[in-house]
Amino acid sequence: MRCPFCGHAETKVVDSRVTEGQDAIRRRRECLSCQQRFTTYERREEMPLMVLKRNGSVEPFDRGKLLRGLVVATANRNVPVERLEALITEIEAELQNSLNYEVQSRQLGDMVLRRLKDLDKVAYIRFASVYKSFQDLDEFTSELKDLQ
Ligand SMILES: [Zn+2]
Repeated sequence: MRCPFCGHAETKVVDSRVTEGQDAIRRRRECLSCQQRFTTYERREEMPLMVLKRNGSVEPFDRGKLLRGLVVATANRNVPVERLEALITEIEAELQNSLNYEVQSRQLGDMVLRRLKDLDKVAYIRFASVYKSFQDLDEFTSELKDLQ
């Protein structure tokens, strides 16, 4: 890491701590040539999650689309939208942690169903009855709308 003041290539780390949000490590560095100090941050690289659809195409994981599907499935069920958002965040985290950046749409549907089952039985049945027979979430969401 080059010193931003004199361009010298060698520095030493004088302090290293996790940031308040726990999502980065902040390091204070001191240039071995001019002794000036500067700060660097180290963060985990966020990998984009991709969904492999049944027709073979791949598209980026879309939180909004999944949330819309869940909102429809839980209509009139008194499930707060925050719970649905938390469910999606949980799935995202599980995929990121397993280093599984490409997920099959069916696998994604199963992950949703497992959690929905604990959250609300009716929503689970709505989601399950329709989801299983569909190619992807687009088709699924429009079908659910027709049911209402
Ligand atoms: Zn320097």
